[in-house]
Amino acid sequence: MVDIVIIGAGVIGSFVARSLSKYQLSICVTDRHIDAAMGASGANSGIIHAGYDAIPGTLKAKFNIEGSDMMEKTCEELNVPYKKTGSLVIAFNDEEISKIQEMYDHGTKEGIRDMSLISKEQVLTLEPNLSPEIKGALLAKTAAIVSPYKLNINALENAVRNGVEFLREHTVLGIKKEKEVFSVITDKGTLTCRMVINCAGLYADEIARMVGDDSFKIIPRSGEYILLDKSEGTLVNHVVFQAPTMEGKGVLITSTVDGNLLIGPDAKEIKDKDERDTHRSSIDYVYKKGLQTTDKLLLHKSVTIFTGVRATPDKGDFIIEESRYCKGFINVAGIESPGLSSAPAIGNHVALIVKSIIGDISEKENYSMTLEKKKYFSEMNEEEKKEAILKNPLYGKIICRCESVTEGEIIDSIHQKAGAVTIDGVKRRTRAGMGRCQGGFCLPHVMDILSRELKVDKDKIQKGDEGSYILTGRTRQ
Ligand SMILES: Cc1cc2nc3c(=O)[nH]c(=O)nc-3n(C[C@H](O)[C@H](O)[C@H](O)COP(=O)(O)OP(=O)(O)OC[C@H]3O[C@@H](n4cnc5c(N)ncnc54)[C@H](O)[C@@H]3O)c2cc1C
Repeated sequence: MVDIVIIGAGVIGSFVARSLSKYQLSICVTDRHIDAAMGASGANSGIIHAGYDAIPGTLKAKFNIEGSDMMEKTCEELNVPYKKTGSLVIAFNDEEISKIQEMYDHGTKEGIRDMSLISKEQVLTLEPNLSPEIKGALLAKTAAIVSPYKLNINALENAVRNGVEFLREHTVLGIKKEKEVFSVITDKGTLTCRMVINCAGLYADEIARMVGDDSFKIIPRSGEYILLDKSEGTLVNHVVFQAPTMEGKGVLITSTVDGNLLIGPDAKEIKDKDERDTHRSSIDYVYKKGLQTTDKLLLHKSVTIFTGVRATPDKGDFIIEESRYCKGFINVAGIESPGLSSAPAIGNHVALIVKSIIGDISEKENYSMTLEKKKYFSEMNEEEKKEAILKNPLYGKIICRCESVTEGEIIDSIHQKAGAVTIDGVKRRTRAGMGRCQGGFCLPHVMDILSRELKVDKDKIQKGDEGSYILTGRTRQ
């Protein structure tokens, strides 16, 4: 029996686990996937919103602003790429000018720093590649970009180093409660605990229903993106949003922390929560909308397209509270955008809810809220590279040529506490396979390294979840 079972190893479950990992509690995090960051947290825009667009007084506004304030320090503690680029919401007509005025007023009411409404001339000085049709913009200097999957993976890694257990491929199928003890039934056995924290993203409503709580519904809404090559990464300096519509924040253009250019997303209600297809119609829409912002987008420079799915709550706001229907069961649900921006603040808040239920909990004698400082090999200067190779000669062997990822880095990513066990796991931790050739060159090498380090046959190595094998057997004996 453990004290707490957290369902979901997305960015929210991982930050909840991290915030609780400093206390004397036994905790496990279960996820239906083989790794962390395989839900919405691994496929989104990666923007730390300034916080002006949530309605004042909502949980979204509160946690966005708190999380955005915490993010730079949190990324430093967790060794996650972070860049304060600032953001622009551009307006093309009078209606959109009133919309950005409204957002400015929201932000001012919430006390957001460094915001201003700027003229067309000022926009084009900051962003010379944008459309001359622009009439003005809202500039928010505190907005930033991060690596979303790194933020998720490193928060979980930190929690696991502090003693939290990560149970991969443990799908929760049912929950029973008897005499203050929960039995969390998974496809790999039953876990017993005193408290359950529901961070199951798209499935949070179904998990809540397992304890008789049907107070909310989660509606899946997909968003598709185009990622362009690093040659295009300097087209814009800020995150550039169009004025929001009823469907959401609209199509944005931003560089990523790794130097690519991201365009998207659209917003479409879908039926199947597990659908991750990309569609010609969505990609055409995203590209066309992007061209309104700048006509310099070159579609033939795309390296990949992908889809993320939002967990939109029917209540319109985040749901973060002990369930009214089941004591000891905490919902952290409906965490759509700005959930990534809010994650560190939500983690701390949930720890306070846990303390209010359990009573005072002592801190562990030994815990740390930081991971060791580590640069990608590709970011090191010549001296640092020499030193790294001297310490470990495998840092001198490049495996991924596009991103200059070394064998040493790949091995380290596998042997972390919550390390990589798949090709995609290595990719998200090291960037091997994220470059222009999308793994065409390095994939067989990464597979060899995974097979050797994990001591499993090559034909057992998967790209991602169960069944995604790369090899099926020998063609010649
Ligand atoms: C297209 C898009 C763009 C976005 N852009 C931004 C942005 O720029 N900035 C921002 O702040 N936010 C953004 N967001 C929102 C942000 O991505 C989410 O708020 C955040 O990732 C939610 O994290 P989560 O942990 O709640 O969900 P998830 O990451 O989906 O994690 C939930 C986890 O629960 C697990 N799970 C589900 N059911 C079970 C079960 N039965 N048993 C075990 N495990 C289970 C899943 O496998 C999954 O890993 C965006 C979202 C999308 C989709």
